[in-house]
Amino acid sequence: MIYKDFQNLKLSALGMGAMRLPVTDGDDAQVDEEAVKAMVDYAMKNGINYYDTAWGYHNGNSELVLGSALAGHPRDSFYLADKFPGYDLSNMDKVKPIFEEQLQRCGMEYFDFYLFHNVCEMNIDAYLDKTYGIFDYLMEQKEKGRIRHLGFSAHGSCQVMSRFLDAYGAHMEFCQIQLNFLDWSFQDAKEKAALLNRHEIPIWVMEPLRGGRLARLSPEHRKALQALRPKEETPAWAFRFLQSIPEVTVILSGMSSLSQLEDNILTFREEKPLDSREMDTLLGIAREMVGKTALPCTACRYCTSHCPQKLDIPALLSLYNEHIFTEGGFIAPMALAAVEEEKKPGACIGCRSCEAVCPQQIKISEAMADFALKLGQA
Ligand code: SF4
Ligand code: SF4
Repeated sequence: MIYKDFQNLKLSALGMGAMRLPVTDGDDAQVDEEAVKAMVDYAMKNGINYYDTAWGYHNGNSELVLGSALAGHPRDSFYLADKFPGYDLSNMDKVKPIFEEQLQRCGMEYFDFYLFHNVCEMNIDAYLDKTYGIFDYLMEQKEKGRIRHLGFSAHGSCQVMSRFLDAYGAHMEFCQIQLNFLDWSFQDAKEKAALLNRHEIPIWVMEPLRGGRLARLSPEHRKALQALRPKEETPAWAFRFLQSIPEVTVILSGMSSLSQLEDNILTFREEKPLDSREMDTLLGIAREMVGKTALPCTACRYCTSHCPQKLDIPALLSLYNEHIFTEGGFIAPMALAAVEEEKKPGACIGCRSCEAVCPQQIKISEAMADFALKLGQA
């Protein structure tokens, strides 16, 4: 196992994410405790010392089952991360009871790592609203040793992350972002990494395989990669990409079976960063994957001054692309939750003034109508 320095700790470069644990009867809330225990025992035996759970994973059962699986191991042999569930605004005034219940569910006296969960457009105002006392409470817990390291995870834009960093950045020790070779450009992960770098905040990676999508490349793409590294399996390429980014410390993978865990551990036996040719090939594959489904908006903004509804067209198209590529998912609805009704895709009147000036000849009115339909806004 590769280890990374973080302050005075040695963290395993591969962390076990507990958001996609094995379940029984296809029910996300019914985590298979025996299978998780076997996975945790195997992970511990093979050098993984970082475990990540959250309030909402598996309807709350991830914390219970992961805590119970870790209970069989000495407390100083692993690091456990949990998160404050600010993705649900109704939790904002409940930081104390939630934190206490999380410790209880996990059967722990302290969390090694604790995060503001999912800083994004929808909750940034609430997270910055001091009247909820979230930041102050978490800092208090840190002083008491019940949180050892405080950080945040973010699915929001660079602007949202900047606002959060301006307010709390001096106290944030790490940040978890969605980073993989596809999102390097598609979700501005490169800019987010640079932003964190400027704040000297190390990066924790979530969704290294984008929910498994990057483990299943097309035959042509697999062939192109095999020509470069014949022995490298497809999922390993996603990890090799991350091993090429110096700011990355822990890479979390939400593993659902012992065999996935075994494969990932094998990949993390050594670092094999990509050379420039391999990197170019992989990023070319990402561009092709996105290009097949996404609209080619370059965010030039020529269209925006022509829109009678004053829609932020490039921002909406970026969310539309994410929504189409992911075939749904939570990111676009979450970001749009913070947008006023009269600025959402459903507010488009189909006048096509924007299309007359779009150098990419994007059928913007059709995209807005389709987006509104998919979001149930039409
Ligand atoms: S078609 Fe829709 S997005 Fe384009 S200018 Fe008209 S209202 Fe704005
Ligand atoms: S004019 Fe076309 S390419 Fe430019 S921002 Fe608008 S939609 Fe995107």
